[in-house]
Amino acid sequence: MRLLLVGPPGAGKGTQAQFLAAHYSIPHISTGDIFRANLKAGTDLGNQAKAFMDRGELVPDSVTNDMVKDRLTHDDVANGFLLDGYPRNVAQADVLRAFLAENKTPLQAALELSIAPEEIIKRLSSRRTCRACGASSAAGATNCSSCNGADLYQREDDKEEVIARRLEVYKEQTSPIIAFYQNEGILLTIPALGTVAQITDQAITALSKLA
Ligand code: ADP
Ligand code: ZN
Repeated sequence: MRLLLVGPPGAGKGTQAQFLAAHYSIPHISTGDIFRANLKAGTDLGNQAKAFMDRGELVPDSVTNDMVKDRLTHDDVANGFLLDGYPRNVAQADVLRAFLAENKTPLQAALELSIAPEEIIKRLSSRRTCRACGASSAAGATNCSSCNGADLYQREDDKEEVIARRLEVYKEQTSPIIAFYQNEGILLTIPALGTVAQITDQAITALSKLA
């Protein structure tokens, strides 16, 4: 299975991606997670990305596209992959399409998680992130919902001022890729409402109807 998730920040892409990747036995490739890991490790890539991430802006395409193409040449993508957080604009979508076409491994589905804007702000400003594994938990939680680690923090870009900018960037730059994948005939949309397990079930049902 070769697919990607699209949806605004706070739609639960990262959470669903973990379950879907496990279900299909494919790697979960999150550009946000890769950037954060590089930031933590103090690599050049991390240092390049930091200022953009802190402002809620997109990291430049030149950096991001090369990073994803490199990741997609690893052995573990033989069975497919799940991209989370990429592409984030139409230019990235074009680069991805060309890269996959060249490798004769076109995308099979773009799964959109749809959610109302009011709900997003509520979720993001109260979300806490696990330093060990990157999973999200609700504010007030003492341990990670995924690995039970106790080191939870609020991402710099989950602070209210930055959330507003991320939502604008999503609307202006990322949401046009929904029409892009609609035109490609591979868009599937499910509402990001209900429990995590209910949303995963809906996603798997939608994906099982693929030709
Ligand atoms: P969320 O989906 O919760 O907004 P992510 O973890 O996917 O957050 O991304 C965090 C930040 O990393 C983004 O705001 C952006 O600065 C950077 N980033 C992630 N993916 C991309 C991408 N495909 N292109 C450019 N920047 C990206
Ligand atoms: Zn964890």
